[in-house]
Amino acid sequence: METKVVKFGGSSLADAGQYRKVKDIILADPARRFVVASAPGKRYSDDTKVTDMLYGCYAIAVKGEDFSLSFSAIEERFNGIIRDLGLSISLDKEFAAIKNAFAHRAGRDYAASRGEYLGSLILAEFLGFDFVDPAQYIKFDEQGAFDLDTTRALLGERLAASEHAVIPGFYGSMPNDTIKTFSRGGSDVTGSIVANAVNAAVYENWTDVSGFLIANPKIIDNPLPITTITYKELRELAYMGATVLHEDAIFPVRRAGIPINIRNTNAPGDRGTFIVSETAETSPYTITGIAGKKGFSVIQIEKDMMNAEIGFGRNVLRALEKNNVAFEHMPSGIDTMSVIVSSESLIGKEKAVIDEITFRCHPDKIEIDNSIALIAVVGRGMRKTRGTAGRIFSALAHARINVRMIDQGSSELNVIIGVDECDFEQAVRAIYDIFVLTRC
Ligand code: ASP
Repeated sequence: METKVVKFGGSSLADAGQYRKVKDIILADPARRFVVASAPGKRYSDDTKVTDMLYGCYAIAVKGEDFSLSFSAIEERFNGIIRDLGLSISLDKEFAAIKNAFAHRAGRDYAASRGEYLGSLILAEFLGFDFVDPAQYIKFDEQGAFDLDTTRALLGERLAASEHAVIPGFYGSMPNDTIKTFSRGGSDVTGSIVANAVNAAVYENWTDVSGFLIANPKIIDNPLPITTITYKELRELAYMGATVLHEDAIFPVRRAGIPINIRNTNAPGDRGTFIVSETAETSPYTITGIAGKKGFSVIQIEKDMMNAEIGFGRNVLRALEKNNVAFEHMPSGIDTMSVIVSSESLIGKEKAVIDEITFRCHPDKIEIDNSIALIAVVGRGMRKTRGTAGRIFSALAHARINVRMIDQGSSELNVIIGVDECDFEQAVRAIYDIFVLTRC
């Protein structure tokens, strides 16, 4: 029988009611054998995630101040779940050990990891599954980089011995056995690692939305979901601000050719989004998704005969490098070049960058335009469809939006459009309407 690895995020495990939904989902499919759990998240919008409570509590402990009140609030989050689920386990011994470790400054990563650890002990009890502590199996090297090969061997062997198991997300350990966490949201990464280690047929990532949406719901009312997206498309959209999944969660499963299925714990009947390496299935809308961000600046450079000047581009980029500014895109004309950078990275450096480029390249004209938004229209279907760019630009023209920059990657996977920040939302709506609404 195939094996599925299922990861539940913090909102899926925020209270006993959510734990019950999680249990129903797991029991509904016998292939769901390995469960990765986040720490309990927010129960309502201004609630505090357990992970943040732990960071806060540990900060008090490190100052040598009395942290018992703050620690009691954490204990109560877990005891409340145990009580409401009607379980008979007690975590008092664990609480005492953790409190003692806080007093002895066991480390910020150790502190943060206890949310996943305690929550998973409860979940394992509730499901009747084994509990597998990743401290023994998920390994980082001396430099703190995650070690997939060692982990795969250790975890694969351990999980082969369990029919069903709950594995806390978010952490592993260093060679000296101290606890180390991934960056925030890192239980996604653990889920991906477990899926790799057991060679899962699919990695189901259960959260509080029914997958990726074609566009940002803050801009478009009820955007349609994306049913299937490739890793490459996802990378383009994520870079432009569409996030549901931790970036580092992709590579362990991608490497093993395991698809990810983003699902909604609160709407388990929804199919969600499949993230795959390749697919013959194309979106009925030609495009897969639209994402964008404000906060870019364009450095416009003009020089007669630029195209014939060997090393011109390199000198521009060296001027940026010298000022420690990364570039995002670089569309160029015959005698013009635009370099797009994040406005934040230019703060306090505009004059130095202009002076450096002037010194190295002697342009006829150089200026910086701020307040630019970039929109990425992404879709593997574009390569095969004529007129995609034409439709984007006529939609923008009809909406009276001035296009400030166009960049199409040679992979024909995306078109990136620069517009004034004040036109951003309107431009996203115009593009969504022309590709999606007119097709519905
Ligand atoms: N609990 C951790 C966080 O809040 C990790 C996770 O939920 O994925 O970042």
